[in-house]
Amino acid sequence: MTDGASPRVWVDHDQCVSSGACVLEAPDAFAYQDGPEALAVALPAAQALPRSRLEELADLCPMGAIHLAEPEPDRPGT
Ligand code: SF4
Repeated sequence: MTDGASPRVWVDHDQCVSSGACVLEAPDAFAYQDGPEALAVALPAAQALPRSRLEELADLCPMGAIHLAEPEPDRPGT
């Protein structure tokens, strides 16, 4: 069960091969970072996307380089 919070999305640069699939599919959420390797990075807007869309985008990466990290649960009393 989840509380509906979207996971954090990030790109593992050890896996990204700059195929561009994520940038083409969701240019609002992914972009190439500066540099000769043109690795993809998740933009701040990506963090606001719903979980289903993030999972869809992660699935289209041919290298499995797009990862979703579950948000930290609230810790009352801390
Ligand atoms: S789809 Fe995957 S391999 Fe291609 S640019 Fe995006 S993160 Fe990199």
